[in-house]
Amino acid sequence: MIRFRSLGSGSSGNATLVEATSGTLTTRLLVDCGLRIRRLDQALAGAGLAAADLDAIFITHEHADHIGCARSLALRERLPVHMSAGTHAALREQAFDGLLRIAADGQAIDLGALQVVPFAVPHDAREPLQLHCTDGDARLGVLTDLGHVTAHVLSHLAGCGSLLLECNHDETLLAEGPYPWFLKRRVGGDRGHLANSAAAEAARALQAHGLQQVVAAHLSLKNNTPALARAALAQALGGAPHDIHVADAASGCPWLRA
Ligand SMILES: [Zn+2]
Ligand SMILES: [Zn+2]
Repeated sequence: MIRFRSLGSGSSGNATLVEATSGTLTTRLLVDCGLRIRRLDQALAGAGLAAADLDAIFITHEHADHIGCARSLALRERLPVHMSAGTHAALREQAFDGLLRIAADGQAIDLGALQVVPFAVPHDAREPLQLHCTDGDARLGVLTDLGHVTAHVLSHLAGCGSLLLECNHDETLLAEGPYPWFLKRRVGGDRGHLANSAAAEAARALQAHGLQQVVAAHLSLKNNTPALARAALAQALGGAPHDIHVADAASGCPWLRA
């Protein structure tokens, strides 16, 4: 069984807990670590856990809202930290005291009860990876921080029953909103962030391959609203908007079963 829970989502900081249980074996992975360490400890306590209960950290890319306190947490708890070679290079090869594990596109990582497969995404970072994971039964995808959905991304997410999916902005709100033009171009560009409409299109494509549950994530506070993200996904998936979970910027979402 896999359950997952966002501890916070968006440009102010991302962290997602994934827990797989198989018989007596439980494996807990923290995907991204973009909170301050005190807040992360509080969020873990809110989820009924402590940092000592974690088994590994996976960092998707070097942006501050994802890397956050990863190094402090890893060193404090002696946790292995998985990231791409490019992400590590972008962090100026920060020392992780033997805890660094280099991840690569398509190379499975065995974490005990959880098997993780990272895959490359188009985003304005050095070598960003998102992931899907399985306990051998359920399959969960995590997909945030990408400018557009590629065939490579869709092929990796086919078969996921649940997906944490970036719904960064509504295209009209972004175009008419307060961002300066260069930021609008960056966010809305091919290597920026995913619009509600593009997320909805991906969700619809993946529904034909087993997708049942979507959690909207990484919503922009200025260029999106939970209602717009819900409406776009519900329309694509053919359900009711209130059935779509939205990961809150500050509080994430409750535990969900994948
Ligand atoms: Zn981000
Ligand atoms: Zn990013």
